[in-house]
Amino acid sequence: MTVARGTVYLVGAGPGAPDLLTLRAARLLERADIVFHDALVHPEVIALASRAEKIAVGKRCGRHSTAQRFINKRLIDAAARYHTIVRLKGGDPMLFGRAQEEIDALREAGVAVEVVPGVTAALAACADLKISLTQRGISRNVAFVTPRIGEGKHPSEWIRAVCNVDSAAIYMAAGQSEQLSAALMAAGLSAETAVVLVENATLPDMQKIHTVLAELPRAASRLGNGPAIVLLGAAFARSACAIDIRDGAISALDARAGAA
Ligand code: SAH
Repeated sequence: MTVARGTVYLVGAGPGAPDLLTLRAARLLERADIVFHDALVHPEVIALASRAEKIAVGKRCGRHSTAQRFINKRLIDAAARYHTIVRLKGGDPMLFGRAQEEIDALREAGVAVEVVPGVTAALAACADLKISLTQRGISRNVAFVTPRIGEGKHPSEWIRAVCNVDSAAIYMAAGQSEQLSAALMAAGLSAETAVVLVENATLPDMQKIHTVLAELPRAASRLGNGPAIVLLGAAFARSACAIDIRDGAISALDARAGAA
């Protein structure tokens, strides 16, 4: 077995806009010998790795992507040859980014691994919307979920989680909005539950669509090809941000969301 000399850094590239990269990530990219990056990472971020060999290991649902096992092997091989290896992932590497598979494989192979967090899509989308995921009197808890499950894996408890939480950020779901909306209403969520779709959060072509659960499929048909996140819960009722503070009590003036 070759002795690994390099360290693999799992680095969050942020949600889209290149200036949302952390300083730590930028510095690592500048000194990286080799960078393995996802399809969604902004070219300006990849360009920071001026001296590195750059390898796309694109993961984009519905499109060709490199098998996870093969990516793990390439990272392990790279650690035998290079000093600084960056595995650049969209958003935060630890949220729906298959980070654990890579960390486990690298550790098992005796390769040093470090993680650099990034701004995840849900937080970026909420910044664009200027709507807080947690709002006093409206939302005190948040769930990050995805209805997508890996092949041969058990379905997760995502429906129950969304039904029992104040605010839900649903990743990798906009393309299945019909099933999403039907499943959540069948599980008891009101057809009037506020929903916002945000596509290309933080990028110039960002699109936000305010709607309600029953109308989600129609709203989603207006999305383009960019990554989109579904945000759901009373905090996202379009005018829930117009709050009335009287005697210390906060009440939504008009909690009912309308189509945009
Ligand atoms: N690790 C990433 C998520 C990877 S899963 C993160 O922390 O953000 C990919 C999903 O993230 C997409 O299907 C979409 O739901 C969401 N996403 C990523 N970038 C986005 C963006 N700029 N705007 C909206 N959603 C985005």
